[in-house]
Amino acid sequence: MNPISQIVRATRPLYRKLSTSAPVAAAKPIPTTGMCFELNDEQQALQDLARKFTKEEIIPVAAQYDKTGEYPWPIVKKAWEVGLMNGHIPEHCGGLELGVFDICLVTEEIAFGCAGMKAAIVTSSIGQTPVIIAGNKEQQKKYLGRLIEEPLVAAYGVTEPGAGSDVAGIKTRAEKKGDEWILNGQKMWITNGGVANWYFVLARTNPDPKCPASKAFTGFIVEREWAGVTPGRKEQNMGQRASDTRGITFEDVRIPKENVLIGEGAGFKIAMGAFDKTRPPVGAGATGLARRALYEATKYSLERKTFGVPIAQHQAVAFMLADMAIGVETARLAWQKAAWLVDHGQKNTVLASVAKSHASDVANKAATDAVQIFGGNGFNTEYPVEKLMRDAKIYQIYEGTSQIQRLIISRELLTEAKQSAA
Ligand SMILES: Cc1cc2nc3c(=O)[nH]c(=O)nc-3n(C[C@H](O)[C@H](O)[C@H](O)COP(=O)(O)OP(=O)(O)OC[C@H]3O[C@@H](n4cnc5c(N)ncnc54)[C@H](O)[C@@H]3O)c2cc1C
Repeated sequence: MNPISQIVRATRPLYRKLSTSAPVAAAKPIPTTGMCFELNDEQQALQDLARKFTKEEIIPVAAQYDKTGEYPWPIVKKAWEVGLMNGHIPEHCGGLELGVFDICLVTEEIAFGCAGMKAAIVTSSIGQTPVIIAGNKEQQKKYLGRLIEEPLVAAYGVTEPGAGSDVAGIKTRAEKKGDEWILNGQKMWITNGGVANWYFVLARTNPDPKCPASKAFTGFIVEREWAGVTPGRKEQNMGQRASDTRGITFEDVRIPKENVLIGEGAGFKIAMGAFDKTRPPVGAGATGLARRALYEATKYSLERKTFGVPIAQHQAVAFMLADMAIGVETARLAWQKAAWLVDHGQKNTVLASVAKSHASDVANKAATDAVQIFGGNGFNTEYPVEKLMRDAKIYQIYEGTSQIQRLIISRELLTEAKQSAA
């Protein structure tokens, strides 16, 4: 049993008991109502383990993986061994069925060490989420169970060369032939594209251009090793370089009908619905990066002297640190609320967009300011902050750009305003 399983299995019976019976003397009461900013024992242990793993396993090799762009399999395997991957997989598949909040806690810690390795480790769960929210028991057992048994990863395949933000514009198509579907098309920018064991793939199954998006697309589970599946070359990206991003070509790929999620036409809702669970962790990752920028800049500003004093004593520098701290705190509150809502069965689409967009902007500002505080050294690869600046940018692009998040937030805001005016 890995350390995370031990922690969860040791603490969970107590929490289940506490939440269904009278409080036990001397135990921490479970908050059932009202606000609470304390982590429970299980969450604290998870965070401690992720922090230790980041310090001992990720930080020492982060610069090397950034430089080579190699996929960090040894780290991914270690993360799998200690239980820092796949925590959200349902219990019936051998997982721990942790909540989004718990996954976010781990994600913030790992991203503090390296956002690229965070992408390599955590993005597998983005590929898994459609199967978690829409897979039947057999599909879950087969494909999620596989990830528990072996250190394998999954990927989420929606974007194409011609369509990213406008998901309804994708051209990959699947046609039904007997008991199979035949898949043809091309995906682009797929994280874990070259290393995944299987992909969630969204394809158009109704060729009628008048068919609404909510009925025109179907979600499939596609195995990497099937004939006709060809990942492209690894893309050389600005940042998060340890992550593996590729295009994937599908040529007459035969998909058994058992690999359709829910049914024909349900794909668009599945692909979009997954974001409620996956955007809070992206926000948590960006928060981790911003926290690292604050940490490095604070340390440096106490060491570096100009005009006879540490630069931290210049108000212009100290205020940049204060702004970073404001950003980190508010970004964390945003992912916490978005994650808490979805874990409690409440609609969180807007809050997930708030968390993702705010934390992404915070990470970019914090990383840029950290480079500024380091002066010339900040521009150099011998120091840790230029990597933070490169790694931060993609947070404003993947999982829906910052403009698309604002579109979601403003649409909801205006709909509510119109309804209350009516
Ligand atoms: C490193 C990396 C990893 C990725 N990983 C994955 C993955 O694992 N799986 C996956 O499916 N995809 C992935 N993506 C794709 C990513 O989600 C898309 O790049 C993103 O959604 C933007 O789509 P696009 O690149 O086509 O840009 P476009 O949609 O062409 O947008 C271009 C610009 O126009 C703006 N824009 C577009 N429409 C509007 C609008 N209506 N209003 C205002 N502004 C608008 C955008 O915000 C952006 O600034 C990844 C991308 C990268 C670079």
